[in-house]
Amino acid sequence: MTTTPSLDEARARVREQGGQELLERLEHLDGRVADLRATRDRDADLPPAPGAGTAIDFDVVVAGGGLSLLLVPLLADRGLRVAVCERGQAGVVHREWNVSAAELRPLVEGGLFRAEELPELMVAAYRHGICRWHGGGTYPVKGVLDRAIDATRLLAETRRRAEARGVRFFDYHEVVGQSAGPSAIAVRVRPRGGEARELIARLFVDARGAASPAATADLLCPTVGGVLSGLAEGPGLDEVDPGIGEILVTTEHVVEGRQHIWELFPGRAGHATVYSFYYARREEVAPGALLRLYARFWQQLPRYKRGEARLVRPTFGYIPGWSRLGPGPAPQQGRSVLFGDVAARHSPLTFCGFGALLRSIVPGAQAIAAAIERDDRSGRPLAGVVADAPLHRGTGALSRLIATPPRAAQQAHELNALLDAAFGTLHALGNEAYAALLRDEMTADDFLRFLWATARRRPQVYAEVVRQLGLRDVGRWGWQLAREALQRRGLRR
Ligand SMILES: Cc1cc2nc3c(=O)[nH]c(=O)nc-3n(C[C@H](O)[C@H](O)[C@H](O)COP(=O)(O)OP(=O)(O)OC[C@H]3O[C@@H](n4cnc5c(N)ncnc54)[C@H](O)[C@@H]3O)c2cc1C
Repeated sequence: MTTTPSLDEARARVREQGGQELLERLEHLDGRVADLRATRDRDADLPPAPGAGTAIDFDVVVAGGGLSLLLVPLLADRGLRVAVCERGQAGVVHREWNVSAAELRPLVEGGLFRAEELPELMVAAYRHGICRWHGGGTYPVKGVLDRAIDATRLLAETRRRAEARGVRFFDYHEVVGQSAGPSAIAVRVRPRGGEARELIARLFVDARGAASPAATADLLCPTVGGVLSGLAEGPGLDEVDPGIGEILVTTEHVVEGRQHIWELFPGRAGHATVYSFYYARREEVAPGALLRLYARFWQQLPRYKRGEARLVRPTFGYIPGWSRLGPGPAPQQGRSVLFGDVAARHSPLTFCGFGALLRSIVPGAQAIAAAIERDDRSGRPLAGVVADAPLHRGTGALSRLIATPPRAAQQAHELNALLDAAFGTLHALGNEAYAALLRDEMTADDFLRFLWATARRRPQVYAEVVRQLGLRDVGRWGWQLAREALQRRGLRR
């Protein structure tokens, strides 16, 4: 019989393989969730707004040096003086990322890497990926999340190139508040163990991810796992095939109101990155959720993959998601921009923030440089910097559905059955449509065709959707889909 490792054991495993710094990040994120449950629009510690004539330190101050660091050298390339403030060390990540080869193109288009350098960033490539729902079939797909990227190297190299372009880094500097005046914005930063000070910028980019006070999206995806060694390799369902990425897999039905999902991406020889996650409404994620999910991860892993699993590197986080059934995150004052996870413009269905963020670095850098050039003194926040795929108006409600599965024991299998019908339909539509949905490229018309085909396969879906979402949200969803279809035909602005 497997016993659940205690929270202390889960904490010890993270510390052992990730060090005290990584454990501190985990506990910081887990603590922030208490704040994320309440909708807040402001930091607590506000500096005075800069008046006219205040000396400007930087054109752009970026808060957060995680994946959004990819934007920074592109800003410097446009002649902007840029500072990055990171509460840990900028460019030091606790994650691994998967993406499709084509989605890496903006790294080259933005002038950050040469095309011939891209293969050096990849640690593995797969024949195909699969999705499989407990009690259902296995649905292969090509061209989705089929490249494993060395995230450590990608960001270390990005930081080196940013420094070479004159970007200033403030490591161990937490951003605690900001206030916009007509011509500049004051950003209050607190160095670890030191006194708070202000940096004055023309524009503030909030890239603090799920920990930002502006991360108000309605869904949250707690994710834990890491790079593991020791899992058995082979063709069996409970083994790792180094040529296959497991994109979405369940091995149980809904437990305690949550549908837990696995993801497994083979990496370097003998290694695989394995995650466990669930979708939830933001207000339902309690503080400490990541650590509890870690304890569950070790308990349930043998049901998913056999072998003597050893944690090589822990990776974890909260990924925000926006269902599009209510207002999305937006900057709350002038001279501010949201970038990356905090903006939650990535897919609410796959939560693939890496691919989405890559799509935004070139247009985002252009929009920020243009805003600084315009020197808008209206006090209006700068919206629309992050690319948003029209498809998300459709997939958002599906994500909300997964986040609120039926709780009754006799209905615990329903969500898996529905997802099996949906993915069986996608697979039957062909690889182009299937991959397009997972890469955020599907058109509204194809999405509607997919919904009708799924409903034909599982007619009870109508009742299930109304029961789980409620009539009001079903109405909003229908309106979003209709609006998108009309817009595509040029019948509505
Ligand atoms: C475990 C995991 C695996 C993932 N795998 C994939 C994948 O395979 N493919 C994919 O497409 N997407 C993946 N994602 C999503 C992807 O990692 C995110 O979308 C991406 O990291 C978002 O980048 P970001 O810069 O917005 O936030 P982050 O990368 O989270 O960076 C935010 C940074 O802000 C810092 N910070 C927080 N508060 C402050 C503060 N007050 N002051 C200063 N700094 C602060 C944090 O320390 C952190 O470094 C994964 C996410 C997780 C959690």
